[in-house]
Amino acid sequence: MHIVACVKQTPDTAAKVQVVDGHVTWGDSPLVVNPWDEYAVEEALLLREAHGGETTAISMGPETAKEALKTCLAIGCEEAILLSDPALKGSDASATAYALSQAIRKLDSVGMVLLGRQAVDGDTGLTVAQLARYLG
Ligand SMILES: Cc1cc2nc3c(=O)[nH]c(=O)nc-3n(C[C@H](O)[C@H](O)[C@H](O)COP(=O)(O)OP(=O)(O)OC[C@H]3O[C@@H](n4cnc5c(N)ncnc54)[C@H](O)[C@@H]3O)c2cc1C
Repeated sequence: MHIVACVKQTPDTAAKVQVVDGHVTWGDSPLVVNPWDEYAVEEALLLREAHGGETTAISMGPETAKEALKTCLAIGCEEAILLSDPALKGSDASATAYALSQAIRKLDSVGMVLLGRQAVDGDTGLTVAQLARYLG
């Protein structure tokens, strides 16, 4: 089975988030794999170990999100996909879910898609249900 884990790159949970000139900023705090998404990746790897198959981590975000995907590869995912385009910048949860669903549909033999509970920055928790709906 091909298992996909959706991973968002977020500021470290210790980051001090501020609004400066109307824009949210976390200064030079490190960016990390969204902590809830670590559970999704871990579960994908455990399921692969138990049942065979392959795992892919996918992230929609700016070029910096490559670092989060490299972490997923380092801990065992076979493949990582970055979905990035300036046109996607500022996407809300629904647009994010739609873009992710279209990318996932292009992959072969996907049997399961795992997400985190919520992103620790955006924090809506909406992407999960919306992605499920777009994937039917
Ligand atoms: C060029 C570019 C720039 C972006 N800049 C920002 C930014 O500055 N700030 C920001 O918050 N978002 C940014 N995004 C991403 C996007 O706008 C958010 O991911 C989206 O709004 C999801 O909402 P949420 O954060 O509330 O996630 P939630 O709904 O809380 O997330 C639930 C779960 O959905 C999955 N998920 C959520 N977002 C993504 C994602 N992007 N990729 C893969 N899986 C995901 C994770 O498994 C997560 O645990 C950017 C995207 C692009 C392409």
